[in-house]
Amino acid sequence: MTPHTQHATDAPRVARAFRPGLEQIAAYRAGKPAPVGPDGRSVKLSSNENPYPPLPAVERRLAEILPTSIARYPSIAAAEVTGALADRFGVSPDNLVLGAGSVEVAAQLIHALTAPGDEVMYAWRSFEAYPILTRVAGAVPVEVPLDPTARHDLPAMAAAITDRTRLVFVCNPNNPTGTVVGEAELEAFMAAVPEHVLVVIDEAYVHFDRDPGSPSGIDFFRRYPNVAVLHTFSKAYGLAGLRIGYAIASRDVAEALRKVAIPFAVSRLAQEAALASLEAEAELEARIEEMIRERARLVEGLSAAGIDFAPSQANFVWLTAGAKSEEIAEAFEARGISVRCFAGEGVRVSIGTPEENDAVLAAISDLG
Ligand SMILES: *Cc1c(COP(=O)(O)O)cnc(C)c1O
Repeated sequence: MTPHTQHATDAPRVARAFRPGLEQIAAYRAGKPAPVGPDGRSVKLSSNENPYPPLPAVERRLAEILPTSIARYPSIAAAEVTGALADRFGVSPDNLVLGAGSVEVAAQLIHALTAPGDEVMYAWRSFEAYPILTRVAGAVPVEVPLDPTARHDLPAMAAAITDRTRLVFVCNPNNPTGTVVGEAELEAFMAAVPEHVLVVIDEAYVHFDRDPGSPSGIDFFRRYPNVAVLHTFSKAYGLAGLRIGYAIASRDVAEALRKVAIPFAVSRLAQEAALASLEAEAELEARIEEMIRERARLVEGLSAAGIDFAPSQANFVWLTAGAKSEEIAEAFEARGISVRCFAGEGVRVSIGTPEENDAVLAAISDLG
């Protein structure tokens, strides 16, 4: 290996003109890779990924198109997958905007709707990308604490809206707590939100939500012009590595998002994999059902061991471990299982395959 030579400009005396405020932004922290456990096993449950390989139909489609998909730019219009999604949700293709993951679409929303100094609100703790994307856009994050049961405090969020507020993210189910807001609560919130504020319902985990009281983001989109919905193929559909997500939004918002989108960010491979996944939904649904059954098994184990957790409607469970969070995360890691630890707050454990969850349950019974 060639040794790294110091570049002349690595020297700290070079005064660079980075934009003001950048020093306050931390780079996104991805889930830890899994350590190797005493039995040689590594279990990565730190990023809420789907533990399964791509569906056979998706793999076949990718293999077919690979030779013609790499050297050429993808279609920006992505008409096929956009059309399939529009049909599925009964909206116009004009209401759909794709991005390289719904994280990119969230960035588009912030860039399209905020000027420097405008406010972007979200619950905290919630998805870690929100504060980063907000600050990068030059907007001001407004973080409203979750209630004592780790749920969104929608009345407090409504009360925190100012005339600088442009966007409110409602992460439902919430990452990392797995909790959901109720339909009536969201309805009351919408009644209190002025029309100049766009409410973005981030439904990255909606496929795992079996709470009959949960709102449907699409229904709210149909009824309120100031609602947009974010969906992703990364979690339930298992395409996190290909990067494709989308917003469903009113035409004017969608048009604005297309202006700020990164050109060609969504590869043809991602578009075709999403399309093949939509066509294979029955198979995907079977996997989702299994993950939901596994979630119940994990929750049972936690209850039996006397470990506190928040009720989850997502593909992960939030252990409300508080001051013991680091200790618990270390105990998992010692067994070759990586989890997401928020020191002093809690530990998020993603649902894996049944075998992976067995390893988690074994660790849990040792902890209890
Ligand atoms: C994982 C996740 C996303 C989706 O990320 P992609 O960019 O689509 O991979 C969006 N929102 C939340 C809350 C998430 O946890």
